[in-house]
Amino acid sequence: MKIGVLALQGAVAEHIRMLEQVGATAVPVKKVEELNDLDGLVIPGGESTTISKLMHKYGFMEAIRQFGQAKKPIFGTCAGAILLANRINGQDDCHLGLMDMKVERNAFGRQKESFEVDLPVAGIAPDFPAVFIRAPYIMELGENGQVLAKYEDKIVAARQGHYLAAAFHPELTEDARIHKFFFDMVKEYRADKVQA
Ligand code: GLN
Repeated sequence: MKIGVLALQGAVAEHIRMLEQVGATAVPVKKVEELNDLDGLVIPGGESTTISKLMHKYGFMEAIRQFGQAKKPIFGTCAGAILLANRINGQDDCHLGLMDMKVERNAFGRQKESFEVDLPVAGIAPDFPAVFIRAPYIMELGENGQVLAKYEDKIVAARQGHYLAAAFHPELTEDARIHKFFFDMVKEYRADKVQA
């Protein structure tokens, strides 16, 4: 079971470390061809506009859309969640547009740039240490989406089928429970494909 971490910008090594900790084989992804033998993909945080430009430049935009449309799980953290969304507040365009949700960028930024708070994450942890860094939040989630966590009444983690999004950074903690959850999603979808 091999999971890739998009390695254009952001906390790549940290995601790889967490995925290996939960038993996955994890590799950095720098070229589109490397998507071919992956069962799942993590899109890390960073700066969504910059990552988007690099994705266009290296041919990832369409390749990752196809990866998602082939029912391969994708987990976006922070900027990665913004890249997955099909609507961005105040912008006419979106990036990958794979997840039916509207996000607002830098949603907590005005109060505090970054902070950590223990949050209950449905089905994953009653007390997950969530690290927020100029984080977005999910303003609207489509009807097939499932809210996994809220902070101050704002949705900050959600799942829609084989897509997972978190506004915070689970890779910057010592807590691997969300990576374990994603690894289980990858196994589940792979098993479905093998049966089909
Ligand atoms: N604020 C960034 C953006 O809008 C996301 C921040 C992050 O990934 N830590 O892209």
